[in-house]
Amino acid sequence: MTTRNLARAVARDAVRMAARLCLAVRAETLRHPDHMEKEGREPVTIADYGAQAVILQHIAGRFPEDGTLAEERAAEFDRLTTDMQRHRVIHYVGETLRRHVSPDDIRRWLDFGAGRETRQVWMVDPIDGTKGFLRGDQFAIAVALAVEGVPEVAALACPLFPLYADRSNLLGVIAVAIRGQGATLEPLDGGPPRRLRVSTQADITQARVLESVEREHTNHSFSAQVLDRAGIVVPPIRMDSQTKYVAVADGRAEVYLRNPKGENYQERVWDHAAGALIVEEAGGHVTDLDGKALDFSHGEHLSANRGILATNGLLHDAVLDAVQRVS
Ligand code: AMP
Ligand code: MG
Repeated sequence: MTTRNLARAVARDAVRMAARLCLAVRAETLRHPDHMEKEGREPVTIADYGAQAVILQHIAGRFPEDGTLAEERAAEFDRLTTDMQRHRVIHYVGETLRRHVSPDDIRRWLDFGAGRETRQVWMVDPIDGTKGFLRGDQFAIAVALAVEGVPEVAALACPLFPLYADRSNLLGVIAVAIRGQGATLEPLDGGPPRRLRVSTQADITQARVLESVEREHTNHSFSAQVLDRAGIVVPPIRMDSQTKYVAVADGRAEVYLRNPKGENYQERVWDHAAGALIVEEAGGHVTDLDGKALDFSHGEHLSANRGILATNGLLHDAVLDAVQRVS
């Protein structure tokens, strides 16, 4: 097996295990959501820690030399969780991996590969869209392998996203991609993959546009102005997490637009690396709001970029043009 094929298998298995852990936590806690608050007031749950431990344990076993950029850290796990919460993380990770797990195992896995300057870096978001997860809406588990700052392999699990647009009873998908080899979608519980392809819609007025649910994560009034300028008549669709990228990759929408509020917010690599590669490999196009390629080579932040625009390709310039005129 080539490194890329091995990495794809590892990423896919890691997001599948993490998705199962998240669904198990969700089943137990949906009625009594429980979360801690990080600096900057973003929520974190025991499922975020459990999922990251499972993912990095899996990667560490196959790629022990690689570096990682992952959302959660062991120091915060120690600082923010109670004894009871730590106990539950250990319980869920042990159940998922079917082995005995200690608190030190969790800490070691959470920080696996952190701070290493390596050619290969795994970009990991254990629960992307934690606010969606807590609300009972969409969330995703994202893993991408970047080689010299370029995402080459991606796996994205969306446990509550329908496998087919018109069948809401079949929930749970994994999208995977290798650069240059296309992107596929398969059921979370296993089954044959099918090819992902972006929409062929070329009429800008008919574009279906996705944006965050959370008003703190994107400027809704900016998007409304862009849609207006572009002559788009379809109301925007709000959805949490990188599931938005899968919706574009599968032709269920044409545009994902993100313009963070606040001058100083810089996007995090783990919020975009997997999703962006999947859209590109499905035939779409991804840039920032200035039309610049996303640059994943500056560590944790997309510090060379401003906002995000992912489209089916055909409508990219029309949306960029509207963005420039509104900005
Ligand atoms: P979404 O589900 O599209 O709203 O995006 C969720 C992600 O937004 C989280 O994983 C956070 O990393 C990220 N995020 C947190 N704060 C901000 C912010 N101020 N602007 C943009 N994104 C943010
Ligand atoms: Mg995230």
